[in-house]
Amino acid sequence: MDFEAYLAPYAATSSHSRGRRYAEPASTSRTEFQRDRDRIVHCGAFRRLEYKTQVFVNHEGDLFRTRLTHSIEVAQIARSIARNLGLNEDLVEAISLAHDLGHTPFGHAGQDALHVCMKEYGGFEHNLQSLRVVDMLEQRYGGFDGLNLMFETREGILKHCTAAHAAELGDIGKRFLEKKQPTLEAQLANLADEIAYNNHDIDDGLRSGLLTVEQLETIDFFARHKREAEAAFPGIGGRRAINETVRRMINALIIDLIDTSRERIRASGVQTVEEVRIAGPLIAFSESMRSEALLLKRFLRKNLYQHYQVNRMTSKARRVVTELFHIFMEEPALLPPSYQTARDAGIDDTQHTAVQARSVSDYIAGMTDRYAMREHRRLFAIEET
Ligand code: MG
Repeated sequence: MDFEAYLAPYAATSSHSRGRRYAEPASTSRTEFQRDRDRIVHCGAFRRLEYKTQVFVNHEGDLFRTRLTHSIEVAQIARSIARNLGLNEDLVEAISLAHDLGHTPFGHAGQDALHVCMKEYGGFEHNLQSLRVVDMLEQRYGGFDGLNLMFETREGILKHCTAAHAAELGDIGKRFLEKKQPTLEAQLANLADEIAYNNHDIDDGLRSGLLTVEQLETIDFFARHKREAEAAFPGIGGRRAINETVRRMINALIIDLIDTSRERIRASGVQTVEEVRIAGPLIAFSESMRSEALLLKRFLRKNLYQHYQVNRMTSKARRVVTELFHIFMEEPALLPPSYQTARDAGIDDTQHTAVQARSVSDYIAGMTDRYAMREHRRLFAIEET
């Protein structure tokens, strides 16, 4: 059965894929990208996303987004756009669900802190870490480490990467050095991520009381859609008004992305994935939508991500991550045995320290928010815990 017969010629397909690192017999009941998605959904790192911060720490409230619900929202948005453009829904779904697997506890605060700690050992990049999770760190299969995903899924997960790292990655890093594009599905997952977080951060920001509707009304994009919602439902207020506004904003962004991308794909004349790779970015917002989205992003940075109450969490997160890193580096014997690295013959102390640092970084990056806090308490609290 040809599951991919309905796709556009420029969509990624299992049959034209660059394949898996370790050859496996094809599935008879699923496409290779469905299989990737299924492997992701069943892996441990995916389950841990439930307890990792997006903006608000998990225990601050039961209704805020977590990395898990964020990833599901990204997948929803990406799939609905993919279907409109004739792109491979299975692939965008796999990329979307996996894109944040490498995130540290405590959102960007945790990531920045770990990057500083890892500075002399190659740094910490969450996209690269997501790839590390699916390529190496998950240990579930008899024949290989990692999930052995398809090239296009891995490529989509590695959204950004420094040139130095790209050079070490071989095949998968090549496009950053050659300045080529990934598949349209990867380009799409990236922008679906942006649509999801801009909108759900507004929603969570209002729910938490850190943002007010009055503040948001200074942003024309929000105000316009709120007026539309009120015209459709006179007298509407409270959470319903917010929801009707946010869903209109998401819809406007999606429609704009579909229309603009369809036109760019048409104008470029691309007919194959190989032509997509050498064309410029084809999945894009219109100019005017891009500037509206930019204003929204700036607003969120200033008023939500740098809100003093969020700063308090950020500061605490930085301390937890940094102190954990240093104590494990000073006393590796405190690490669970699987994260203690044996000194291999033929490598010197400096090289061994770098290997140990990467292992500590893997351990910390894999922690959920509450696990990190508990681990910090276990190691630093003097009183009984
Ligand atoms: Mg994301």
